[in-house]
Amino acid sequence: MVVATHRPSRILISKAAVAKNLKVMRESSQAKFIFLTVKANAYGFGLLEMSQAAVEGGADGLAVAVLDEAIALRKAGFCQPILVLGLTPVDQAQLLADYEIIATVADRDWLATANELLRIGGPKLQVNLAVDTGMGRIGFRSRDELSQAITDLEEDLQQLTYQSIMTHFATADDVDTTYFTQQVATWHELTDGLTMPPLVHLANSAAALYRVDAIPTDVIRAGTSVYGVEPSAGEIRADDYLAPVLTLQSAVAMIKQLPKGASVSYGATYQTTKDQWVATLPIGYGDGLPREAQGFEVLVNGKKAPIIGQLAMDQLMIAVDEPVPVGTPVTFIGTDGDQEITIWDFSRYCQIDPWELTIRFQARLNRELVD
Ligand SMILES: *Cc1c(COP(=O)(O)O)cnc(C)c1O
Repeated sequence: MVVATHRPSRILISKAAVAKNLKVMRESSQAKFIFLTVKANAYGFGLLEMSQAAVEGGADGLAVAVLDEAIALRKAGFCQPILVLGLTPVDQAQLLADYEIIATVADRDWLATANELLRIGGPKLQVNLAVDTGMGRIGFRSRDELSQAITDLEEDLQQLTYQSIMTHFATADDVDTTYFTQQVATWHELTDGLTMPPLVHLANSAAALYRVDAIPTDVIRAGTSVYGVEPSAGEIRADDYLAPVLTLQSAVAMIKQLPKGASVSYGATYQTTKDQWVATLPIGYGDGLPREAQGFEVLVNGKKAPIIGQLAMDQLMIAVDEPVPVGTPVTFIGTDGDQEITIWDFSRYCQIDPWELTIRFQARLNRELVD
């Protein structure tokens, strides 16, 4: 994958905003320990850049989806606790232990096999037991089996340590709390009275923000909120309490005036309705912009300018009121003058959830840490 540093299309990540959002999460959840979720290239924000901003901003650990993301962080020098949220094939147990990565486990066989595979005298493997309280994805679903796994860890499996336990909520960002409450009850049924490890974490962003009274948890796994995106789309909390983290920018590469009736872009589906200044920008769906962004208004010199015609892979056109010079910055997400485009604005226009939108941003968009 080529990172393109010689072009104006890029992503800026605000360290100050990340630090502010971590503080908001710490205060609202009373968390003693925050894992920032940086899976899938940090939701598209950039794995290493976001992790750097998070660690500087006060995150205590990092959570990823797969082992390779964890190893990439270790190789980049991150020495904080790292949790792999997904299940890792047991034949990678030694690698997990060598890199001191916390492995999520959902069955006893995995534990027994890992214990056999791990080198005696080598580093112990830290285990995070997943409990499925209703997400239906991964985790122990029976109290007996969970209880036996804990006994195995405490009494028999010398190469493993019982470091962590978790569950995940399916509806923490819903206004209706019925299913959430049911999951909390299931958590109590499955775990009350069992030995708890040092890290007990039940909360993603939404649970940590809105439901923390129902789940006193001193560890949280937060993604969305720290990325500056209100998890409920303002339905549960409407004030501006999170700082925007990501700016997506490009710049004018060519400016021309087209006569009335001229076609723009593939398919010749768009025609100008008057003599029109048109700017070409070096960014397209090959950078991860959705084609649904056609018609969306970006910002040039603090004024709105619509994307006209179909997005091409590497370029797109916008209509502007005046002959803006080549090099003029164009903002897709972020602020320009007194105008702001939030990730939610872009997301609503394209009808794509914010995390699904940002995750598409390609390596070709250079990520830069600012402030
Ligand atoms: C992705 C994920 C999170 C983070 O969720 P946000 O809603 O982005 O805060 C937490 N826990 C698990 C298990 C996840 O998969």
